[in-house]
Amino acid sequence: MSTKRDYYEILGVSRSASDDELKSSYRKLALKFHPDRNPGDKEAEDRFKEAAEAYEVLRDPKKRTLYDQYGHAGLEGTGFSGFGGFEDIFSSFSDIFEDFFGFSTRRRPQTRAQRGADLRYDLQLSFMDAAFGTDKEIKVEKMETCPDCNGNRCETGTSPETCRQCGGTGQISRSQGFFTVRTTCPHCRGAGQSIPHPCSKCRGAGQVHVHKTVSVKIPAGVDNGSRLRLTGEGEPGIYGGPPGDLYVFIYVESHEFFERRDTDIICKIPISFVQAALGDKIMVPTLNGKKKLEIPKGAQAGDLFYFHEEGIPSLRTNRRGDQIIQVEIKTPTNLTKKQEALLREFADLESRKFSKKLKNILKGGASNAAN
Ligand SMILES: [Zn+2]
Ligand SMILES: [Zn+2]
Repeated sequence: MSTKRDYYEILGVSRSASDDELKSSYRKLALKFHPDRNPGDKEAEDRFKEAAEAYEVLRDPKKRTLYDQYGHAGLEGTGFSGFGGFEDIFSSFSDIFEDFFGFSTRRRPQTRAQRGADLRYDLQLSFMDAAFGTDKEIKVEKMETCPDCNGNRCETGTSPETCRQCGGTGQISRSQGFFTVRTTCPHCRGAGQSIPHPCSKCRGAGQVHVHKTVSVKIPAGVDNGSRLRLTGEGEPGIYGGPPGDLYVFIYVESHEFFERRDTDIICKIPISFVQAALGDKIMVPTLNGKKKLEIPKGAQAGDLFYFHEEGIPSLRTNRRGDQIIQVEIKTPTNLTKKQEALLREFADLESRKFSKKLKNILKGGASNAAN
């Protein structure tokens, strides 16, 4: 300990220096040797730490008395052993550094403006509303800034007072040995203010619980999992912070005939095997109502027919997908005698072609066989 420089000497003050002299002297040294101004300079770093240690001891009357009587040895065994690094110094002298360097945001961290919370609302839509878009009114339960006190939490005509416990800083200091520990003021919970007459509407909370009706414009083309953001419709901010957002999550009901695949719509239409064989003109449902579809001769089960750009608009490009008709071929049941007789006749004619092909298949020459 004998190699340590004298604290008064470090700060360049007399042994009878007042608190203000100590503070102003330390302020000058801290500014001069501040690590931000002397990046990588080891000597400046040492001087900066040395000054912090000297000031930490001399600003405390108990420690200063011990030091005056016994020198550095007087501080041994008290738990004080200087600072480990810059973090220690900055946290111990946070009030001073704020004064010095204008770190105003550090001063009352609890009263910093905070953005309100985001909210979520799950909205179920019909298939058609999702396809074409719609306007919906939704009822949202949320907190809102109290209309009576405007969020300042005081009864009309009264105002907040500086918290007496912490003097408005929102923090209280407790001494533990030679260390000073700062904690959030339990009285004002860090706000630095107390409310002598709380607003009767919100009971001093500054916010009230409301049921609010919000209009939502649903764009055409939303799908399951689409998320709409309503800016500013979330919970109100605190200490002047902006409100959060309301997110509307979309769920789309399924449709009786239409099945959605991204922006395309598929509709399965049953036709008879006769329609498939001979071709036909039929009416099919589309998003835009009934449309005529021409089935060509010889249509096969599963064939797809397209109405281009008559599907659902893309949210990104607004271009519409396709309306797709897929034919399913139904085999007739409950044939009349006459229908059965005709089919047997048809089968006799058909069997010649079939047996020729079958013969080729059985011979292993199927791929080149003409039917
Ligand atoms: Zn109120
Ligand atoms: Zn307080």
